[in-house]
Amino acid sequence: MGYICKPGDRVICKIKEDDIAPTYESKYDRKQIFDIIAKCVGEGHIVIVPSSLYLKHSKTLTASNYKDYAVDKVFIGSSICYIDDYRICEVYSILDGKSCKRCNDFCQMAEGNQSDGSFLCYVCRKRGY
Ligand SMILES: [Zn+2]
Repeated sequence: MGYICKPGDRVICKIKEDDIAPTYESKYDRKQIFDIIAKCVGEGHIVIVPSSLYLKHSKTLTASNYKDYAVDKVFIGSSICYIDDYRICEVYSILDGKSCKRCNDFCQMAEGNQSDGSFLCYVCRKRGY
């Protein structure tokens, strides 16, 4: 199992002893909502750690390491943490929008604009696809 999530989605994880616990953990301290900012190659996601939360395995994004995590440089200075798919208890919210069927770019708030219900982004439509 595990959820298919993408950057922009928000997920709920269990926190136990300053760490993100696997979903099967029944004795945990609290639940916490995290914003996903990147998908890792293979499995897992990078989430933002709120400044009010201390996590043992969080890292600070810097100008020299942000590319390693494939996240946008707007997140430099933030605390991040890797979670595998088995640490996602629940999906809190899904970022609304669609991926362009040609270039795969995700457009927030986009809706299907093709006769088959799929979506073509502005750039691809301009190119006449
Ligand atoms: Zn496109």
